Amino acid sequence: MSLGWEAALDSCLRLAEPRGRESVPRAQALGRILAEPVVIDRDYPSGDLSMMDGYAVGAATDQPWRIAGENTPGHGPGEPLAAGTARRIFTGAELPAGATRVLPQELVALEGGLLRVTEAPEGAFVRARGSEGRRGETALFAGSRLTPADLAILATVGAQPVIVTARPRVAHLVTGDEVMGAGERGEPGSRIRDSNSDLVAAILRGIGQRVREHRQVRDDRAATDRRVAEMADLCDVLLISGGASVGDHDHARPALEAAGFHFEAHRLEVRPGKPIGLARRGRQWAVALPGNPVSHLVALHVFVLPLLQVLEGAPPARTRLQRAVLDAPVVRAVPKRDTFWPSMARWSDEGWRLTPCRFLSSGDLLGIAGADALLLLRAGADVPHPGDPVFFLSLAPEFSNP
Ligand code: AMP
Ligand code: MG
Repeated sequence: MSLGWEAALDSCLRLAEPRGRESVPRAQALGRILAEPVVIDRDYPSGDLSMMDGYAVGAATDQPWRIAGENTPGHGPGEPLAAGTARRIFTGAELPAGATRVLPQELVALEGGLLRVTEAPEGAFVRARGSEGRRGETALFAGSRLTPADLAILATVGAQPVIVTARPRVAHLVTGDEVMGAGERGEPGSRIRDSNSDLVAAILRGIGQRVREHRQVRDDRAATDRRVAEMADLCDVLLISGGASVGDHDHARPALEAAGFHFEAHRLEVRPGKPIGLARRGRQWAVALPGNPVSHLVALHVFVLPLLQVLEGAPPARTRLQRAVLDAPVVRAVPKRDTFWPSMARWSDEGWRLTPCRFLSSGDLLGIAGADALLLLRAGADVPHPGDPVFFLSLAPEFSNP
């Protein structure tokens, strides 16, 4: 029985359990999900610091002041401020005891060694101790995916190592007697080079992950059973390229079932990619992916990336569709299944604009050169024309750890 692809994906994502946690050096934490809150180790800033080059003075307004001493960054507060004096101070230096504000040097005049304000300063120009964070408070919350700004925060609070969620280990098995290595020449005809292994590797690299193991197997039931059984024991997610459908030479499903996987969804109402199947064995997942390269690409983005996100501990996220305006005609007939049409997205002053690629069939890999988006055409909905609003899924990596 076929199921709506969104309902099928949602129900699989609800069944997917995150993998746990691990500790990584700060330098490897970019794009990872924090498994524990990060706590501020001391008041921030840890002293009262000047925000400007100028002069530190007390609360009293009895100018002029005599200048006594100099505070530079990293050298402490120095002697307390004596009555009637101002301290020369620089950005980032600690204020002396008794000082409450800094007069920026642009707003004062020095005459005969005496300091006067020439223009009333707006503000005290002091970052007070603890004003940005107190020791023990939370700097970063569990569940956040670490951005470059977050990494700077980890450095500032001295967090090392960092406790993040573990990422699923992914393996990729290529099936097909016709498939040869990407470096092979082979006889022309029905033999084709393997492009799916490079595709999966590149998509995973885009999100800071890698394929732990790439293997290949011929279209033979016993050989596929053996290969699936041994690979499944070494990974959290086994991706199988090809043989996903129900033909006489399609062994992905029977081999996965023989290895103890249960299909939670199979043959979904989506184009390209209908043969896709998602199977589970306890906390492990296997995805039977259509071998056709364009279907492989669509299925990886629409089904596998959300699954990897949830296994990594991110909240289940619906396929994130964005709005665009269609730039060129796409299809003439209303699609019978929801269709992801490979396209190129271009940013303009009015937002995203989408140009559909040539897409003769799900084998037409050459037609999708430059594709960085999938235009979603809903089954039964009116065919969009140039200038019409449309929705698309971006193929650009959303989370990374290069
Ligand atoms: P399958 O899903 O096994 O029925 O394969 C469908 C079609 O996808 C095959 O006829 C091949 O042309 C193509 N194909 C299968 N595996 C690969 C691969 N690894 N790389 C490129 N194309 C493939
Ligand atoms: Mg095949």
